[in-house]
Amino acid sequence: MPKIIEGVYFVPGQDEMMPDAHSYVIGHPSSKDLSLIDPGLVGKGNYKIDSIEKMGIALEDIKRIIMTHTHFDHIGALPEVQKRVPWAELWVHHLEGEPLEKGDERTVYGMEMFQQVCQVQYRIKPGMFTFNVHRKLQGGESLTVGQMQWEVLHIPGHSLGSISLYHAPDRVLIPGDVLYADHAIGRFDLFGADGEELKKSLKRLSQLKVEILLPGHNRVVKKLPEGYVLQTLEQWEPYLT
Ligand SMILES: [Zn+2]
Ligand SMILES: [Zn+2]
Repeated sequence: MPKIIEGVYFVPGQDEMMPDAHSYVIGHPSSKDLSLIDPGLVGKGNYKIDSIEKMGIALEDIKRIIMTHTHFDHIGALPEVQKRVPWAELWVHHLEGEPLEKGDERTVYGMEMFQQVCQVQYRIKPGMFTFNVHRKLQGGESLTVGQMQWEVLHIPGHSLGSISLYHAPDRVLIPGDVLYADHAIGRFDLFGADGEELKKSLKRLSQLKVEILLPGHNRVVKKLPEGYVLQTLEQWEPYLT
């Protein structure tokens, strides 16, 4: 698992027929207060946890799992991951955390047809994605975790409770599926998605100084050109209504 910078580690997704979200671990290992961002797709939890162990990270130091959002390709591996790190808390934006506690899986699957495909493909029973959420994020928090500061920004549009995590000192942005490399953005046709909201969210992200972009899929970028987010927004703006 490559180290991006001190305190930020990357486990690439292993896409199959369906995409597997990238996972990240944030926090200085010496703090013993690490956070795992987005477990990934069903069946990929053990791969992710094994990769983290191979990096020399002690599993008992993983204190929490933070979701950028709760789509199937990000949360599918959570039950497997929870078996390996049962002590880890689950932190989710409240707009997706409250449905998760009630077993409302509309955000997880995004659309009914996809739900049926996944349930057949992975032999998943309805209600599998019901979780106890230990902390419901609101957006606007400044988290001190792993001896680092991470700002939580609520950036809806791809899903209701999408968040990004931003570490200002090293200009690191973890935007989930809202923004990718190569001027791509997240889809906005699923349950709870909204083009206008996505536009506003990209505008907010464009105000941050970002050098290292760590999205949910595809390439990570270590030297993001200045003005990248704004350029991306301008390209997509006509479609974001
Ligand atoms: Zn995704
Ligand atoms: Zn998504």
